[in-house]
Amino acid sequence: MKLVFATNNNNKVKEIKGLLPKDIEILTLTDIHCTEEIEETEDTIEGNAKLKADYITKNYGYDCFADDTGLEVDILNGAPGVYSARYAGENVTYEDNVQKMLYEMNRKIDRKAQFRTVIALNLEGKQYLFEGICKGNILKQKKGNLGFGYDPIFQPDGFDKSFAEMNLKEKGDISHRGLAVKKLVKFLKHK
Ligand code: IMP
Repeated sequence: MKLVFATNNNNKVKEIKGLLPKDIEILTLTDIHCTEEIEETEDTIEGNAKLKADYITKNYGYDCFADDTGLEVDILNGAPGVYSARYAGENVTYEDNVQKMLYEMNRKIDRKAQFRTVIALNLEGKQYLFEGICKGNILKQKKGNLGFGYDPIFQPDGFDKSFAEMNLKEKGDISHRGLAVKKLVKFLKHK
């Protein structure tokens, strides 16, 4: 089976390719010659996942899936959530967002947070959603240099290392994206 993964984020492509069985072949946006940026204009994680998948199916005619992820911090009332990519402003780097989070969480005792991923799958004219949640804590400083985004400051529950200290397999086994992909794979296997 061939499916388009609607993302320009190579870190996500690497993670997801490592999680899918060999008989599911992933086409990236580059493979289908989609060069435009798909703007994430919805105000929920689900909404943006659906929007990205629908854009590709509507404009390119492919069965496809897209993920959208947010970091939801308890004491910040679930922020930055759907706005995680733009937490420090428009056109910012991962490092800018990490620094903004460390600043906002300075001296906060309650550091509980979760990553939440929603995958929207468009298959044979129908849409399906899969959710994955990983609970943990926001660290007081960065640890590790693997991964991407907020990985250096997120420590999943039950581990004494950050996501940025885990290899792809270790992160994939427990991460929000890993859990959502496992649900996707289980669904595809029973199709
Ligand atoms: P999006 O799903 O690409 O919209 O991601 C929103 C924001 O969350 C971006 O700033 C990403 O860097 C960050 N993000 C998404 N997935 C992860 C992850 O697995 N680890 C750390 N940060 C992530």
